[in-house]
Amino acid sequence: MALIVQKYGGTSVGTVERIQAVAAKVKKFRENGDDIVVVVSAMSGETNRLLGLASTIQEQPTAREMDVLVSTGEQVTIALLCMALNECGCPARSYTGSQVKILTDDTHTKARIQDIDDGPIRGDLKEGLVVVVAGFQGVDIAGNITTLGRGGSDTTAVALAAALKADECQIYTDVDGVYTTDPRVVEGAQRLSKITFEEMLEMASLGSKVLQIRAVEFAGKYNVPLRVLHSFQDGPGTLITIEDDNSVEKPVISGIAFNRDEAKLTVMGVPDIPGVASKILTPVSAANIEVDMILQNVAEDNTTDFTFTVHRNDYVKTCKVLEQVSLDLQAREVIGDGKIAKVSIVGVGMRSHAGVATKMFTALANESINIQLISTSEIKISVVIAEKYLELAVRCLHSAFELDGAEVVQES
Ligand code: ASP
Ligand code: MG
Repeated sequence: MALIVQKYGGTSVGTVERIQAVAAKVKKFRENGDDIVVVVSAMSGETNRLLGLASTIQEQPTAREMDVLVSTGEQVTIALLCMALNECGCPARSYTGSQVKILTDDTHTKARIQDIDDGPIRGDLKEGLVVVVAGFQGVDIAGNITTLGRGGSDTTAVALAAALKADECQIYTDVDGVYTTDPRVVEGAQRLSKITFEEMLEMASLGSKVLQIRAVEFAGKYNVPLRVLHSFQDGPGTLITIEDDNSVEKPVISGIAFNRDEAKLTVMGVPDIPGVASKILTPVSAANIEVDMILQNVAEDNTTDFTFTVHRNDYVKTCKVLEQVSLDLQAREVIGDGKIAKVSIVGVGMRSHAGVATKMFTALANESINIQLISTSEIKISVVIAEKYLELAVRCLHSAFELDGAEVVQES
């Protein structure tokens, strides 16, 4: 008998019929003899609807009241799902975050979980009940309702699985797993049967939106086996777990991630002296602009060009900040490009394989795609290219690294 935490996202509980279908599914697991804790999101669209309501009344409501408001979405779903479970003969009990006691800090709208009281849940499981917990919400030490940030139900599920030492945390959603890349871009994209926490983290932060990034971090930290599955199609999904040293058929590259969310800025002709990088980036971060890739060229005639990327939404704001910086530093000029895309190959296998970067650059060169920026980490190589070549780049890399076709990782 296993203890499984299952999370169903907004689309999986988006209608009464779907809630009933989820109940039928949970009942089957229960009848197999497993203990089941279910975490649910709000019905699809509900959180946005609530945010919309708030904005019709006040431009900037207090974060405390926002949390009181948006946490209601999940409260509706837990009650409806328990009714559906009870109705189909599978006794269940619902809990809000504060009833469980999912204790968080007091950072409203993006609170962090500090502690979970697993007592009441364990008691109910012992009685044979299915326990249904509201995702996305908790309570601070003073008893205020808090929420964990958009997509936070994933984190609730992982945190509960860690606290209960569950055998697996299953995330049910509208895709049947994690893919080598976006199947809308590459027809031959494959579902991965297995991926490491590290790789998933890179894929998620690069725009693969299957899981909330914090949930993956949490799962990695507490080593909670995480599985992404389709809510209403049978299949093994994708298991996200620790690196398996014994795996013989470890692919060099597990996936290709990309995003079009970035913009590139270059301060040309800044003096090549200590302190310049800091002088350029300090006002940028003071304006709350997050910088991603940074590149400084070798100096020529005592000046250098300094390039970095930011989120495209921050592009105009960053240009304004740099106008002043460039005056202060007596730089030659500031140029920018909002039409770039970032493509990354990700895989723990590249640690032990030489020539991965060369293979990537050659594949791009064969398609005459110009690389504007490069950055690397232990398990990732990213390039910035013109946005118009994005699809071509992803496709040629997908086939260069032999990700098309047959299943990539052997089922374990
Ligand atoms: N309902 C919340 C949201 O839409 C939390 C979640 O779905 O995970 O962000
Ligand atoms: Mg969600």
